[in-house]
Amino acid sequence: MDQKLVLYIEDNFHNRRLARKILQSRGYAMAEAEDGASGLELARSLKPRVILLDIGLPGMDGLEVVARLKNDEELKHITVIALTASAMRGDRERFLAAGCDDYLSKPIQATELIGKVEFYLAHNASPQSGGLADTARV
Ligand code: MN
Repeated sequence: MDQKLVLYIEDNFHNRRLARKILQSRGYAMAEAEDGASGLELARSLKPRVILLDIGLPGMDGLEVVARLKNDEELKHITVIALTASAMRGDRERFLAAGCDDYLSKPIQATELIGKVEFYLAHNASPQSGGLADTARV
């Protein structure tokens, strides 16, 4: 398992390129998947400690991806950070309820992204599908 590897599941090329630039500038490697199915495959083969997950994906959406991750004994410990432009009231709660450990809103901000990634690499999310509150208690 690569400690400095982040997997980003996102169908938008520009967002992937931006996140890759930010992460690489801080010494992280980023694996990329354009849809949920290949994202799950990469999660299984690479076992990253953190996954950035777009919610609006073609085919299987991000909420289904996180549900599958969190229902899989081998993958449920991976921290999943939802990343979406959606700013509707209640969205954050909806993403956390679906199993995401945390949430970041687009457009991607370098400081915010690096801050979250570093935080979760330093503090593994609770195996009980913790969310930020549980993680902060560790
Ligand atoms: Mn999308």
